[in-house]
Amino acid sequence: MEICLIAAEGARYGQQKTRLAEPLFPPLGLMTVAALTPDRHNVTIIDESVEAADTTIEPDIVGLTAMTAAAPRAYELADAYRARGVPVVMGGMHASAVPEEALQHVDAVVIGEAEGQWQKLLADFEAGSMKPIYRNETLPPASSIPPARRDLVDTRRYVAKHTLQATRGCPFACSFCAVSTFFGSTLRTRPVEDVLDEAAALDGEPITLVDDNIMGRPDYARELFARWADVGKSFWSQASTTMLKTPELITQAAEAGCKALFVGFESISAAQLEKIGKRFNLIEKYEELVARLHDAGIAVVGSFMFGLDGDEEDVFERTAEFAERAEIDVGQFSILTPLPGTRLYRELDQAGRIFDRDWSHYNGAHVTFEPIGMTADKLEAGFQWVYERFYSWRSIVRRVGRRISPLIWTVNAIYNRRVKRWLSEMRCQPAG
Ligand code: SF4
Repeated sequence: MEICLIAAEGARYGQQKTRLAEPLFPPLGLMTVAALTPDRHNVTIIDESVEAADTTIEPDIVGLTAMTAAAPRAYELADAYRARGVPVVMGGMHASAVPEEALQHVDAVVIGEAEGQWQKLLADFEAGSMKPIYRNETLPPASSIPPARRDLVDTRRYVAKHTLQATRGCPFACSFCAVSTFFGSTLRTRPVEDVLDEAAALDGEPITLVDDNIMGRPDYARELFARWADVGKSFWSQASTTMLKTPELITQAAEAGCKALFVGFESISAAQLEKIGKRFNLIEKYEELVARLHDAGIAVVGSFMFGLDGDEEDVFERTAEFAERAEIDVGQFSILTPLPGTRLYRELDQAGRIFDRDWSHYNGAHVTFEPIGMTADKLEAGFQWVYERFYSWRSIVRRVGRRISPLIWTVNAIYNRRVKRWLSEMRCQPAG
């Protein structure tokens, strides 16, 4: 069969045509699904963050994936292919959260992880007996993750070309996050040998370990970092603030080649962190954590969210002030977004506070629910103000001026330019 796998792309920030960044990661999920596909089939991958899907082609079957913000585009594609008689199936976080909605546009949904179910779906499809829902009764072991089919994607078109997954899941359950709903709250680990083999086969560095919490299981992280030296390539990943409990792991990560970690600080208010289920984030330890990472030579990509219950209009200035004082290298700011499938969505939905269900607005840059500490307009304006301030030259000098890191300077300079362009485009257009 000819199988066409498509990652639909919605707006990341701002309006539909506005992009804050060039495509960051190649579609590792689809490259993994391609690797699960029996060899007798011919697979192509289209990632709409680099090229639009061609709806005039007629493969035997189309497999779609989409994050929530791209769901409307995925449905548009599905409708177009089905109108031409091409069967369409869908997987990924959004379809898994709202399979009944997805089934209004596609023939079948794979709920949760694809390992095992994708092969079953294809076999049923060939036999003419495809069912509407495919779902693993138990989470597949991480050892069943195959090396991704990188030959199907031109990875040179992405900022972070070399991606890899070592673990799945997260032991925490933050209310806004779909990771533990989708991947489970037990962190499953791939055999270190498999990860090292795949890393060694990549033709460059740095490698992005796309894991949601690379130090979520310290024993595994210890072994991975200890043996990563054999790979001899730098890497970056994500980790929770709890890594401060195992400072030796930070040192070990740095020695192994870790150059940056994405850390979800989310808020600088303990009450707000408690409400979103992130009490393990200790605000009084934030600056110590950043300093330790910097001492080890690891840059900090800090994530912060606005619009949490309890946030008032001063949250923007206080957060920007903190991020500058702590010398956060790169900042990612977003408006709290109730993604379907999360506890946050259920809570806000039950309280009748969700006023916007246009999924294309669920990209972290729009207010989709009634905030309680300020108006929706103030929340959106404050979020934009923080970006503008954080990527102003004054802030960049204050945050990274003392450290000579050409890469971090370059990233900030790129963001300075992009944020200016993005905000000017947003301000020229009426809200969508
Ligand atoms: S620690 Fe990070 S990955 Fe884990 S549930 Fe919280 S936000 Fe999600």
